[in-house]
Amino acid sequence: MNHLLPFPKPPESPTEIFYEEAFKIALIRARVYCEKDFPCMLDFDLHGDTAGLAWNTPKLYKIQLNWWHCRTQTTDAMLNTLCHELAHIICFVKNAPNEKHGFLWQRSMVEAFGEFPTQYHDMETIPAAQSKAKKRIAESGIVIDLGV
Ligand SMILES: [Zn+2]
Repeated sequence: MNHLLPFPKPPESPTEIFYEEAFKIALIRARVYCEKDFPCMLDFDLHGDTAGLAWNTPKLYKIQLNWWHCRTQTTDAMLNTLCHELAHIICFVKNAPNEKHGFLWQRSMVEAFGEFPTQYHDMETIPAAQSKAKKRIAESGIVIDLGV
């Protein structure tokens, strides 16, 4: 399911800046692991249930993170998501686009990032009534507990 949230994505904030900095470091690790310099960008346009996505376009690799998850999930979960997506990019770079969450992807998670290769992330759902906005999300039936 891909829900529209009841309010627009806010402008860039320390949240985005934090994950952009983490992305730069993780991208260096991915390039070292691949022994190849490749272009990859990050944006925060993703919304709905999915925490992150990896794109394999002809000229550029791209990762999308869910801006709402970046604000509501734990930093550990979202950094794992960032590495999860970059491990997909590593598979693209290594010409294994159909790898999905197979051996090369799992090995990349461990060897490039030192992260546990979980396909789905254990993200806590947001309790209702913590705030008006979160209550609206809960009432709308959105379950924010899915990874990629
Ligand atoms: Zn994945």
